Amino acid sequence: MSTAAIFGSYVLSRKDGAQDVLRDHWVLIEGKRIAAITRDKPHADQVYDRPGRFVLPGLLNLHNHCFSEAVARSHSEDGNGRKNNQSIVYTVLLPLTKRGAEILSAQERLAVARLGILQLLKGGATTVMEPFRNSIPEMFDAAEEMGIRFYGAPYLFSTSDAKAGSDGVVQYSGDDGAADMATWDALYQRWNNRGDGRISLAMSPHATDTCGPDLLKACATRARELGVPITTHLAQSHAEVETIGKRYGGRTPAEYLDWLGLLAPDLLAAHCVASTDDDLKLMAARGATVLNCPRVFARRGVTAAFSRFAEHGVRTVVGTDGYNMDLLGELNAASIISKTSSQRGDVANSPELIESVTATAAGVIKRPDLGVIVPGATADLTVVDLSHPHLQPHYDPRRVLVALANRANIDQVIVDGRVLVDMGRYARGDEAAITSAGAAAIRKIWELPEAREVLAG
Ligand SMILES: [Zn+2]
Repeated sequence: MSTAAIFGSYVLSRKDGAQDVLRDHWVLIEGKRIAAITRDKPHADQVYDRPGRFVLPGLLNLHNHCFSEAVARSHSEDGNGRKNNQSIVYTVLLPLTKRGAEILSAQERLAVARLGILQLLKGGATTVMEPFRNSIPEMFDAAEEMGIRFYGAPYLFSTSDAKAGSDGVVQYSGDDGAADMATWDALYQRWNNRGDGRISLAMSPHATDTCGPDLLKACATRARELGVPITTHLAQSHAEVETIGKRYGGRTPAEYLDWLGLLAPDLLAAHCVASTDDDLKLMAARGATVLNCPRVFARRGVTAAFSRFAEHGVRTVVGTDGYNMDLLGELNAASIISKTSSQRGDVANSPELIESVTATAAGVIKRPDLGVIVPGATADLTVVDLSHPHLQPHYDPRRVLVALANRANIDQVIVDGRVLVDMGRYARGDEAAITSAGAAAIRKIWELPEAREVLAG
């Protein structure tokens, strides 16, 4: 069994169920497990003795979209690509990823998937939950090949062809529920538990407005038969709230999911920016989780404050959605946006935010072996280099991490004891080749006439 020892000027361990920052310790890995946390240097095959490192449990990024993020990249900033400052979900993300997946070859889709996984790993994540169009199954191939822990969440839609015209009104079409369930089942059979157990599936009905009651109920039933988590988009916009209210007797999107039995501890609901206080109280009572992705909303002036969800007692974790996959940067945004919106400096503090992407997130997916550095835990680690000039000196490593660090300070990413990122570089392939191949495939989508039209402004 191979062994590795990693020195941390700080190690974020665990004591009595809470974070415990150890000074000058070693983490000893044996095979896929953490064997010990020691003061003295242990014997090991590989020794990483670098000063100024902060050894954290592997970070979990439970909401991201590699493919659609790349499609929209730099086209959706500064109000571009938007109709009346509305969401780009129905103008850019849904239609262009659908068409894009159709016109690219399997090899080109794989190139985009590799680019995305590379970006996620270099953003510090060891575990990700990635919802994507089921016409991009190459996400699984890339995840298996590159070694990340991957909860693939291929979408199910009742109406996969949701599109907004120039008036901003969403037209819903398509009738794909049964076909998408069959595809999901086939992907589950093929992929679940592959990659030495690192590949899993989540049930992923796309959103409340694109999934009807029958499909949502079928998703819940199937997910609970298999014991897999359910993830969806909930209350992403006021337009969605209006649509659901009109269709289902005045229900809010959260009430709609509750009516169908989905609001429960196995539900991970992205965004909830248009949720009422009563919706959040209901989610807290049902034990559902909010996936808070503040930056993707902040870029169009919408506040998605971690502190608002946390103050309502809802279990809340931070993810990157379709924005840069820089989990440290996202934690910083979660801190700043919470403080700005509540006009208080003492909300969304650093230990709480770090907890949200480690132990809390691991609890959401029922993986107590992840998100903690204790003997016997799975050897998933994120190591941050605090020796950079903008991070020295510091008094508290957790506060310097959230307030001042970012993806460029990631030193190592280790999954199942395997070093995937070392000295800030992907250790198992050619970064430049992966990046240029992925970028070339995305440019092909940008050449489509419909892409030129919606991305123009
Ligand atoms: Zn999303």
